[in-house]
Amino acid sequence: MPLTTQAFTKEELDTIRAATPGVKHAVHFNNAGASLMPVRVAQKVMDYLNHELLYGGYETAEKFASEIEEVYQVIANYLNCSAGEIAITENATVAWGQAFQSIPFQAGDVILTSMAEYASNYIAFLQLKKRLGISIEPIPNDSHGQLDVEALEGMIHPKVKLIAVTHVPTNGGLVNPAARIGAVARKYDIWYLLDACQSVGQMPINVKELGCDFLSATSRKFLRGPRGVGFLYVNKRRLSQLEPPVLDLHSASWKSSESYEMREDARRFENWEFNLAGVVGMSEAVKYALELGLDSIWERIQVLGNHLRSSLSDVPGIEVHDLGQEKSGIVSFNGPFQAMELKRHLFKAGFNVSIIRADGTLLDMSDRQLNFMIRASVHYYNNEEEINRFTNFLRKALVD
Ligand SMILES: *Cc1c(COP(=O)(O)O)cnc(C)c1O
Repeated sequence: MPLTTQAFTKEELDTIRAATPGVKHAVHFNNAGASLMPVRVAQKVMDYLNHELLYGGYETAEKFASEIEEVYQVIANYLNCSAGEIAITENATVAWGQAFQSIPFQAGDVILTSMAEYASNYIAFLQLKKRLGISIEPIPNDSHGQLDVEALEGMIHPKVKLIAVTHVPTNGGLVNPAARIGAVARKYDIWYLLDACQSVGQMPINVKELGCDFLSATSRKFLRGPRGVGFLYVNKRRLSQLEPPVLDLHSASWKSSESYEMREDARRFENWEFNLAGVVGMSEAVKYALELGLDSIWERIQVLGNHLRSSLSDVPGIEVHDLGQEKSGIVSFNGPFQAMELKRHLFKAGFNVSIIRADGTLLDMSDRQLNFMIRASVHYYNNEEEINRFTNFLRKALVD
């Protein structure tokens, strides 16, 4: 694996790092938690807040109306859909939940899900099971550790209402074969809800190729946007069949003492109040990613992720645990150390990582009998020198 990539030139990488002041203060390998914002994104948020400070919230929203409106088209450009298929939400969990709860489930329905499913999604399945009596069937992994698409096809039967899977999990480098899963969903006309919280911002995303009905994402992770904002994609051919659980005077209008009407577009999944500084910040983050190019971003992330994996495997005692054929920038490992202690030790030395606990992705973690892991997640603005420093630090720490 070459240590450099064709994705960005050295000059481009220098510019990218110069636009990311956070890299001066730490080696930030917590991009799956929250990436470092580029200056232009943080500046947008601060300019917006400053305008609110001087002129008031509603007045600022009017002044920035066209910029706020633009976010839908900017996200649609990234996902290859139309602006009317995008809803802005507070985070990925709300996006996912609004979508999930709008699906017209009936008692006896079956949900097929991934081994890598995120805790919050699975908890929602369990709530529905308790409330309505549905069943949940995890789709097994193949020999690479990614969702087995042939097994999925074998599990399809008339009671299967929804395929809800995680594209890239929170706990490792796995990339599930989302487009092949989508082909099965389309073939049997089954609802398909894709949790793309960790893939958006890392790689090109094309909802037409993925074949999903819904896709949920957040701003603060690999998109490098501000916290507290996210979005939902809803396929327009499904829109008219869907009634979100929470409607308000923005997503619907009150027509008479007996009636209301929902908006025609995906904004029926929104509610009225927004952190608008966050919305314009997220828009700027998506524009920046599109300018850099998602193909280049993805290539660079994979090179750095694989470099980190192979360097860590050379450290005595460390076991790297990432699954799948194609791997993302999320690197997970454990070894002869106490995770909390090691994380603190790393933080003091200027390395940001996070700890994976079993109950974040319980099906997968219990299947592999893992209780915890350290997660080191790289982005395109990280570099080989940081990776070498990190692995050398660990090598020394594990000897001492
Ligand atoms: C972080 C994460 C979420 C939740 O995103 P929020 O923005 O915190 O709501 C959902 N799914 C996966 C796979 C995640 O990693």
